[in-house]
Amino acid sequence: MAEAALIDGKVHAEHLREQVRLEVAKLVAEHGLQPGLAVVLVGDDPASQIYVRSKGEHSLAVGMHSVTHRLPADVSQEALESLIGELNADPLIHGILVQLPLPAPLDEKSVLAKINPDKDVDGLHVINAGRLASGLAALTPCTPLGCMILLRETLGDLTGLRAVVVGRSVLVGRPVAQLLLQADCTVTIAHSRTKDLAAVCREADILVAAVGRPRMIKASWIKPGATVIDVGINRVPFDDPEKAAAGKTKVVGDVDFKAAKAVAGAITPVPGGVGLMTVAVLLQNTVTAAKRLNGLPD
Ligand code: NDP
Repeated sequence: MAEAALIDGKVHAEHLREQVRLEVAKLVAEHGLQPGLAVVLVGDDPASQIYVRSKGEHSLAVGMHSVTHRLPADVSQEALESLIGELNADPLIHGILVQLPLPAPLDEKSVLAKINPDKDVDGLHVINAGRLASGLAALTPCTPLGCMILLRETLGDLTGLRAVVVGRSVLVGRPVAQLLLQADCTVTIAHSRTKDLAAVCREADILVAAVGRPRMIKASWIKPGATVIDVGINRVPFDDPEKAAAGKTKVVGDVDFKAAKAVAGAITPVPGGVGLMTVAVLLQNTVTAAKRLNGLPD
């Protein structure tokens, strides 16, 4: 059997960012509406700083209004929530993203609940989770929406396909499953208590792995020809003992990629797959929010 086609996140993300750039230009020209994204970073976690910088740079690159609020790690819950209130009221801001995780003892759930659901471009407000589960127009978490874009561009119509999502987190597993259901797939959500996970996975035409366990999904769990979307981002030591001894690490997915690509029909690499879609979808969500807040059709 031929090797799986690679689903290239870089190409799809670039394409999506270009679409967003054109749409922003059109909104500015036709409606005087410049979509605006506010990113809130609390503390100085190095990974969060990199993500926030990337979000700011990409939003400026597509012509959006972009602001980043950097707050000290010891900011009070009240001060943080008061900033959210100001952003909710700011007519130039259509998307609000609070970079997670927040440093202790800040209460993430309380902060997320304060964001206007119509500006919640991370899609993590319970109102948006409820809208998604009810099949209503929602702002949808970025990584799951990125998975769906990759699936549609790879497979076209998903109607009737058997989809298995491994993982049931609020951030990834659950929203991916809801989106697959909306796309008329027959969906199974598997998790740490699922019995005979390998057999469940083997039923999947579409297998989405969102577990957080390096290379857990084996090639023998994959139905020949299936499309595999690997959401996992796991740091592991290098195979090369010298590099490993030097403490060097690399990023791998939840799927045993090397073996899986001999069985799957199409597969996302890690890195270079789903992860690259997330920021591009964030930009798209900000455009969607700006349109809806201004009464324009999606
Ligand atoms: P969580 O830890 O919140 O959820 C993991 C899920 O996997 C849980 O539902 C858990 O089940 C399930 N699980 C854990 N172990 C097993 C097992 N042995 N068998 C079956 N299921 C298992 O992780 P997230 O959903 O937040 O993230 C998943 C992965 O995706 C991570 O690697 C993360 O880094 C990555 N990620 C990538 C993003 C991107 O590309 N931009 C964005 C977000 C996440 P249970 O509920 O029973 O505990």
